Amino acid sequence: MRVIEIFHSLQGEGILSGTPSVFVRLAGCPLRCRWCDTRYAWDFSAGDEYGMDDLVEAIEKHPCGHVVITGGEPMVGPDLAAREGLADLTSHLRARRMHVTIETAGGLFVPDLACDLMSISPKTTNSAPAEPTLAVAHERRRTDLGALAGLIEAYPCQLKFVVETADDIGEIHRLLDRLPPVPSDRVLLMPQARTRDELLARAPAVVQLCRQTGYRFGHRLHVLLWSDRRGL
Ligand code: SF4
Repeated sequence: MRVIEIFHSLQGEGILSGTPSVFVRLAGCPLRCRWCDTRYAWDFSAGDEYGMDDLVEAIEKHPCGHVVITGGEPMVGPDLAAREGLADLTSHLRARRMHVTIETAGGLFVPDLACDLMSISPKTTNSAPAEPTLAVAHERRRTDLGALAGLIEAYPCQLKFVVETADDIGEIHRLLDRLPPVPSDRVLLMPQARTRDELLARAPAVVQLCRQTGYRFGHRLHVLLWSDRRGL
């Protein structure tokens, strides 16, 4: 399994925001979102190859019961099928009584993962890359209603939407209307921001949307604390 980085920090997003966690960032993502803050994890051949025992040992070095498997896109391998070794990794972590969160864009349904929180961030049109060829591929891959529904029904989940402007809410409502019901306190709206300044500038409009819709404001604690510094 190719790993970009393993580090111990605080969960910055979602219902477990603020929880000390070990982050395992796997290599590769096919989406190329315009505002992606982990471009260094796009390449499936980036990072270092880990065997399962070495990977679990590297995670266990940190005195922490929460693990966040992230990316890139941790569910998907280079062939765009389910990532080899992911189910095995989650089983090893579950056997050690660790709480496992998987951060995914939700483009692929993968069954039988030992996952305590499936943290799904469906991508909307505001994530489209500027480059036309990439934009076409992104549009084709970014939303799979069957995969999203499968994940929502199979796992404890939260849905995190990146909001750039108040106009995004219509698209979010339309998507949610086509999915199995998710409680409003499990739907989070997060300001689109890679830096602290962007976060603070966009937050008030998102706060207002949360007040109007009943959805939850999505912290981006790591951006607030460390702006765009990597590995924190
Ligand atoms: S899905 Fe996530 S990792 Fe992949 S390009 Fe989009 S924001 Fe970046």
